[in-house]
Amino acid sequence: MKAMGTVPAEFGAVDGELRIAGQGVTAHVAAAGDTPLFVYDLARIRAQVAAFRAHMPPGVSLHYAMKANPWAPLLARMVPMVDGIDVASGGELALAVAAGATHISFAGPGKRDRELRAAILAGATLNLESEGEAERAIGIAADEGVRPRLAVRVNPDFDLRGSGMKMGGGAKPFGVDADRAAALVRRIVASGADYRGLHIFAGSQALDPDAIADAQASAMALAARVSRDSETMPPLVNLGGGFGIAYFPHETPLDLTVIGRRLTDALAVRDPVLAETRFAIELGRWLVGEAGVYLTRIVDRKESHGETFLVTDGGLHHQLAASGNFGTVVRRNYPAVIATRFGAEPTETASIVGCLCTPLDRLADRVALPRAEVGDLVAIFMAGAYGATASPAAFLGHPAPMERLVDGDAAICPE
Ligand SMILES: *Cc1c(COP(=O)(O)O)cnc(C)c1O
Repeated sequence: MKAMGTVPAEFGAVDGELRIAGQGVTAHVAAAGDTPLFVYDLARIRAQVAAFRAHMPPGVSLHYAMKANPWAPLLARMVPMVDGIDVASGGELALAVAAGATHISFAGPGKRDRELRAAILAGATLNLESEGEAERAIGIAADEGVRPRLAVRVNPDFDLRGSGMKMGGGAKPFGVDADRAAALVRRIVASGADYRGLHIFAGSQALDPDAIADAQASAMALAARVSRDSETMPPLVNLGGGFGIAYFPHETPLDLTVIGRRLTDALAVRDPVLAETRFAIELGRWLVGEAGVYLTRIVDRKESHGETFLVTDGGLHHQLAASGNFGTVVRRNYPAVIATRFGAEPTETASIVGCLCTPLDRLADRVALPRAEVGDLVAIFMAGAYGATASPAAFLGHPAPMERLVDGDAAICPE
């Protein structure tokens, strides 16, 4: 038997079933019409936003990195809750505009001319990834007769310790190396563009608050250095994000108290060149990850060489991360339960697998579960971020997953 991540707090039972936001899983599936189904609870997202506001120093902006979950009904509710939307493609830009976002920043390597143009015309801030991209943006803005909003993404000369995905330190396709950033800032200012500041993102999925606080302090110091060297006051410094969530056994949820206290201290002693600067933190998975549950139905129960397999109608084509194939080296079990027997004592060891013809399609590997039968529903937790749009949905030609958004007791979509 192998260990499994911990079911997030506050998931209770109703009539022996897992309850998500006041409703049992069978009712969710009935309302959506079919499995597999992602259910997202807006109340949980709102609670995360409130926790951020309660712990971070006043005036620190919260941006939503929408690649974590770009589903339109969810995004439309995120826009008024946060201070900005961070997009990473022209497609995301269009979704953000359609969702009513007015404060948009666009980072990401390989922006095409048509994406730069769309961002400039939409009034979004371009976080420039290279000198070449800067020249293209300046040229396009001149053609359009628009003053572009330009910021510089700096490839940090430090990394985020303990980060599940390192995005800084050493050779990277992201941002301009720290020692060339000041020259690019000068070039932007000289072009007459509206210089918006600096973007410094060092990594993702960290659970050590001191590591995050260290990275924020390093980002602030780097921003000060670039700003002094370029003799500019950055209106905004995006300090990156990296707030992780506890997917796996032995992981503990991130403690924001430490981050808030240390950020308050760092702001108090910041370099005078940053005196007028606003600061932002950009988060994806921490905001929406725990709010999502993936529900899939058992369609077969079988034995092979002494091992029990519960075969579901879902799989890695919807929830790649839970299968262990999205940026992890060692496969570990996400929290999973038999949702229609929630709270029942475990009586057997079984593996929950998907319906794809590949041994990679394993949603839970040899975990302790109550005995489940064909027709039972399985719930995989921590499914709100990097699920439906970060999985190879077209692989093997199964249908796309259903998605449902609720807010406590109220159904938002479908109603
Ligand atoms: C992906 C990404 C994020 C979001 O990361 P999470 O781990 O989901 O919080 C933030 N900023 C940038 C630049 C990114 O590429």
